[in-house]
Amino acid sequence: MKVKVAVNGYGTIGKRVADAVNLQKDMEVVGVTKTKPDFEAKLAVKKGYKLYVAIPERIELFEKAEVKVEGTIDDLLEKVDVVVDCSPNKVGAENKPKYEKAGVKAIFQGGEKSHVAEVSFNALANYDDARGKNFVRVVSCNTTGLARFISVVKSVADVKKVRATMIRRVVDPKEDKKGLVNGIMPDPVRLPSHHAEDVKTVLPDVNIVTTAFKVPTTLMHVHGISIELDGKLEDIVAALEDEPRIMLISEEDGFTSTAKIIEYARELRMRYDIFENVVWRESLAIHEGELFAVQAIHQEAIVVPENVDAIRAMFELADKEESMKLTNESLGIKK
Ligand code: NAD
Repeated sequence: MKVKVAVNGYGTIGKRVADAVNLQKDMEVVGVTKTKPDFEAKLAVKKGYKLYVAIPERIELFEKAEVKVEGTIDDLLEKVDVVVDCSPNKVGAENKPKYEKAGVKAIFQGGEKSHVAEVSFNALANYDDARGKNFVRVVSCNTTGLARFISVVKSVADVKKVRATMIRRVVDPKEDKKGLVNGIMPDPVRLPSHHAEDVKTVLPDVNIVTTAFKVPTTLMHVHGISIELDGKLEDIVAALEDEPRIMLISEEDGFTSTAKIIEYARELRMRYDIFENVVWRESLAIHEGELFAVQAIHQEAIVVPENVDAIRAMFELADKEESMKLTNESLGIKK
């Protein structure tokens, strides 16, 4: 029997999670929701998804716009085992009582506070913590990028402390209501940034402090990471080479910026989705016991495999290695 999945909030993350779930043999998308009968709603129907109305009072808007809907979120929740909540920041927590009432499991995204769920999740860092759980939160894009990188390094070195600076894309490409046109914004000005605390929700033993800046770009985030450790560079490089969710790239191949990474991904994947951490090989170096690394993170895509793995963990469909392998194969994540 396949796990029946609802995606509540068919936006940037929701549409990608729906497509990824659809590629799995052990789960299926029963329906997705939209709040408005806009082009994204119409596209969801065109792609064959059953559409439901996220805010029940708005069903008339869909009828007026002649967009076919199967019912409201309440109807959808009756048909599923789990809902992946991909609504905007903080809205997931507001939706939670609906899920509790319907008796369905739920996955929340990184824009929610960690206490919305029983556990925060990153497949490489703490897959087993989500086994059998009812409410799981997949950590944000930046936290996913950090948690993956640190987990791989930790597997071959004794990590003492981590310091990371995040250069963040200001908004996603589709945004036309806000942005930062000309400037570099410390975000937050008062240090440290919240990302370190968020990493600790999946890697509680790591000593980590982070800072973050927003810059006028939409494509990707870039992280400068330094890790004080006991370990050998060759072991770390080998571990990174071995992990499918890490893509090692080289300046020599022409990867001089995130613009070039995205250009590459345009040929490689639908919507140029990059599910992997993209680590510059030349940036990896150890100086006086400190590992240095620079990685780029495609914020729209990186959490997608983790949502699929979270479903497997919650329903105990597979162990960590098996789940990650299935997810990777289905999404074209390979070495
Ligand atoms: P988005 O704005 O692209 O999509 C959110 C969708 O939810 C929209 O379709 C919106 O209409 C819908 N929605 C609004 N109110 C709703 C409600 N009450 N119930 C159900 N749906 C509702 O946002 P996004 O970028 O996909 O972000 C979703 C979540 O994923 C947030 O928690 C965010 O922090 C997290 N996240 C985003 C990114 C990113 O870079 N975009 C990366 C990782 C995690």
